[in-house]
Amino acid sequence: MLSYWEKVSFIKYDLIIIGSGIVGLSTAIKYKQRHPNTSIAILERGVFPSGASTKNAGFACFGSISELEDDLKECGEDEIVTLTEKRYRGICELRKLLGDEALQFEPVGGFELGFDPSACDRIHYYNGLLENVFPKAPFSEVTEDLKNYPFSKKVTHLIKHRFEGTIHTGKMMRNLIDLALELGIQIYTGCEVKHLERDSNPVRIHTVSNKQMVEFRASQIALCTNAFTTSLLPDLDLEPGRGQVLITKPIPNLNLQGSFHYHRGYHYFRPIDNRILLGGGRQLDKAGETSLVFESNDTILSQLKEDLHSLILPGLEVSIESNWSGIMAFGKSKNPIVKKASENVFVAARLGGMGIAIGAGVADDLIKLLETH
Ligand SMILES: Cc1cc2nc3c(=O)[nH]c(=O)nc-3n(C[C@H](O)[C@H](O)[C@H](O)COP(=O)(O)OP(=O)(O)OC[C@H]3O[C@@H](n4cnc5c(N)ncnc54)[C@H](O)[C@@H]3O)c2cc1C
Repeated sequence: MLSYWEKVSFIKYDLIIIGSGIVGLSTAIKYKQRHPNTSIAILERGVFPSGASTKNAGFACFGSISELEDDLKECGEDEIVTLTEKRYRGICELRKLLGDEALQFEPVGGFELGFDPSACDRIHYYNGLLENVFPKAPFSEVTEDLKNYPFSKKVTHLIKHRFEGTIHTGKMMRNLIDLALELGIQIYTGCEVKHLERDSNPVRIHTVSNKQMVEFRASQIALCTNAFTTSLLPDLDLEPGRGQVLITKPIPNLNLQGSFHYHRGYHYFRPIDNRILLGGGRQLDKAGETSLVFESNDTILSQLKEDLHSLILPGLEVSIESNWSGIMAFGKSKNPIVKKASENVFVAARLGGMGIAIGAGVADDLIKLLETH
């Protein structure tokens, strides 16, 4: 049972955000900056954010050509342009919010590995399609630079996206949390929301922490729980997609700069702290990776290791230090869901595979909804 003191000082807020991933934290921070007198709490079930935002690869990316080709079959040109705009706008917003130093943003470019000459056929088309999104044509063929990279001879072509880069995911999340705390936002971790009384006013939120039930109340609720949202709002078009990541031990004299993709964006790697971080391969076992459980997938991990040794750094002795997985959310549409779910309950979810790119922009869209209701 709660004490009188707990009831009067800890339980009621103007806005409660569920989930402390990039969307939950950015929403809380930006809302508080616009409305300093609002009381805001974030409820997070993990010891720290525990979905995708602390598990990702840290690519500031907007879609490689082979990935856009795939998307074009499903969405059409207009949606490709809108999605790419959202990704670019989101990274610009994130850089404005935290600053490049806090993000360790490095504008190293994004490089797509091509395996035959047709890889470069569509550069001109996509530069034209995206001409109003980026300040300059984003794509260029840089195949002649392949001599400077350690890749296997199987890689025959290289395409650069000049606006892509990398961030340090850990620093980004650490700095978002620090900024939220500095602004007086309360963050409760180890606090899982089990149920919402959606039609109550204020909304009642039933949580479990340390085996104790605690009921919070708020005038407005924002669900920023991405892949995990369906346990609280079952009707959303959203399914989980797990992603696998490996990191190597430090590699002496590793001289590699950039962020790299291949196989329609499904595979990616980058250097970090003299190591290679590589991941993806979800297309190799989509059914197995449609899961909310944080687990390894041996089929995918062995392909990633094979790529590391035979494609990315052939001939080098490289050992794996560790691996992990994170859970994303996908749906029929590539667009995130940002909507009012009931009178005082709002949701921003289904961030897809480029949620770091769109996260801060999604927060802006969610805030517009919160402010107009
Ligand atoms: C392996 C991997 C690599 C990726 N690489 C990139 C990349 O390079 N670039 C890029 O742009 N994007 C990348 N992404 C995608 C990106 O990380 C996500 O789209 C983004 O982090 C989603 O943010 P979010 O805040 O919506 O969700 P999340 O980060 O999943 O946050 C949701 C939070 O809600 C909490 N939660 C859930 N249910 C409850 C509950 N009932 N009660 C309380 N708390 C709850 C979870 O613990 C979690 O902390 C990658 C994702 C993965 C998994």
